[in-house]
Amino acid sequence: MGDIVFWIIIRTAITIPAIWILKSYIDYQLWLIVGIAVIYGIIIHPAVLSYKKFEVKNKNVLESSLCSTCKHFDPSAVLCMKYDEHPTEDYIPCEGIHWEPK
Ligand code: SF4
Repeated sequence: MGDIVFWIIIRTAITIPAIWILKSYIDYQLWLIVGIAVIYGIIIHPAVLSYKKFEVKNKNVLESSLCSTCKHFDPSAVLCMKYDEHPTEDYIPCEGIHWEPK
């Protein structure tokens, strides 16, 4: 999840100044349309795709792992907050010893 946010910030930091510079070269109404299209195409759409990939990749961990039922699990980051590690289908950081119900 951190990767997704990182790349949103990077793409935004590059795209917004580029759109701003473009403003002085084209008509305002066209610039507005191009700006919205560029923001959607370069920032929003890739972020949505990345998030969908993230959800698919972690679906089993989020829905049917031991960690998904534990109070120390943060589903938004797929992270065990007690161990500060990412559980996977094959890896449970505490090996079930510190599992606590939500
Ligand atoms: S404490 Fe153990 S069971 Fe709970 S989220 Fe962390 S690794 Fe998973």
